[in-house]
Amino acid sequence: MNFESIRVVSTTVLYMISSILFIRGIKLLGKADTARKGNRLSSVGMLIAVVTVLFEKNVTDTLTADPLHNAYIWTAAAIALGAVIGAVWAKKVEMTGMPQLVALFNGFGGLSSLLVALTQYMTDKSINVFSSIALGLTVAIGAIAFTGSVVAWGKLSGKMFKKNITIPGKNFINGLLAAAGLCGVIIYALQIAGVVTPDIGLIGIIIVTAAYLILGFTMVVAIGGGDMPVIISLLNAFSGLAAAFAGLSISNSVLVVSGCLVGTSGLILTLIMCKAMNRTLYSLLFGSFGASAKKGASGEQKEPKSMSVEDAYLILEAASSVVFIPGYGMAVAQAQHAVKELCDKLEENGAEVSFAIHPVAGRMPGHMNVLLAEANVPYEQLKTADEMNPQMGSTDVAIVIGANDVVNPSALTDETSPLYGMPIINAFEARTVFVLKRGKGTGFSGVENPLFTNDNTVMIYGDAKQTVSSLVSEFDDSAAG
Ligand code: NDP
Repeated sequence: MNFESIRVVSTTVLYMISSILFIRGIKLLGKADTARKGNRLSSVGMLIAVVTVLFEKNVTDTLTADPLHNAYIWTAAAIALGAVIGAVWAKKVEMTGMPQLVALFNGFGGLSSLLVALTQYMTDKSINVFSSIALGLTVAIGAIAFTGSVVAWGKLSGKMFKKNITIPGKNFINGLLAAAGLCGVIIYALQIAGVVTPDIGLIGIIIVTAAYLILGFTMVVAIGGGDMPVIISLLNAFSGLAAAFAGLSISNSVLVVSGCLVGTSGLILTLIMCKAMNRTLYSLLFGSFGASAKKGASGEQKEPKSMSVEDAYLILEAASSVVFIPGYGMAVAQAQHAVKELCDKLEENGAEVSFAIHPVAGRMPGHMNVLLAEANVPYEQLKTADEMNPQMGSTDVAIVIGANDVVNPSALTDETSPLYGMPIINAFEARTVFVLKRGKGTGFSGVENPLFTNDNTVMIYGDAKQTVSSLVSEFDDSAAG
């Protein structure tokens, strides 16, 4: 066996090992108690993949080249830059900033694949038909994932596009952009077939890149409210698919495997989210959801009633069933540990306690599950809306902690609401509803919530962590006194 054959065999084996680690890692990520191990395994897989690339022939060939053409110098510089930015960012980011960071990472994934494909286009003059189709798809999907994710980041962080922007004739414009991009792909394909010159082919690539970059923007900017989580998981799937097609275009097996894992898991999550949100992918992309964040029904505006912590304690002390309904505000207040303490006090007092978790509560899929797992709330105590809603009518107290959209009854009744059609946790059916929030702020969708003025609802204003801790102190004081 000569050196070249040994190189090919060993890189193939190493890519296979890292692919197996990715697959095992993603499996372990499926359960809270094995998730850390899954993350570590996947990281080792990524390290093996990156090191193996450095032994590929087209990389080692540049070893003796001048610094401008030496792949090792560029790779070392890119790793150093990425590692420093990534480490500083990851250290600095608050838990509440994670969703927008993840959205941005999705976007960077799409951009990387787009750049890989454009570089391939410029450097590989003998590309075959199969790789060139993969290249065109990488450009298209990578471009949509990039701009779409940047818009999602702006919306989630509240820095840009906070209000849902209505684009008149959105579907027509999106159709036009998709068709223009397709024309770009055809022009490029004609270059590969030798029908047109490379100059014209280049125009095709520029058209497809520009059209799909704009399409990512127009597709996501009009989406808001209950549709945002679905579009985020779709963009996640897009960034994976772009990586998979980039892998096909440069014939890199580990990129194909990792891209397929991200792409398919993202697509499965998108379909699960669509089902949970009572949406179809078609209606999400071509409907007019989230076109405007309307105020609640007009007419007489009732004022919500509020209650002191001391009075709330008396009701809780007498309750035999309590359901916690956490939302984004619990993440902002970092109230999960205090909530677990209150849960323990209630159980010691003889109450039956559950947690009703809405699939889009918070700002990322599984947000509430992660926070509550961190506070050691047993997984069996977490119930879905389907499990909890039938029992809500016989629940003594529902404690809504920083949740708003996910308990908004207008999603069931108001056809003009951007939330309409989204299943909610039916907190309004409980005998008494406590709503813990700081003031009169609306949720992510910007929609007013009629739950707050219901006769059986009382507001307990203040930071959620402070309010819950005060309730815990009331139980402690009563036990001591
Ligand atoms: P919402 O965003 O609807 O409401 C959060 C509420 O928390 C606000 O009304 C706010 O009111 C309150 N709040 C904020 N800080 C605190 C605090 N420190 N203490 C107490 N309360 C606080 O949250 P939900 O979880 O109900 O709904 C999630 C929304 O996010 C949905 O619209 C969903 O579509 C969207 N979304 C979800 C994603 C996901 O994957 N899960 C991704 C993207 C969007 P106040 O200011 O008065 O305190």
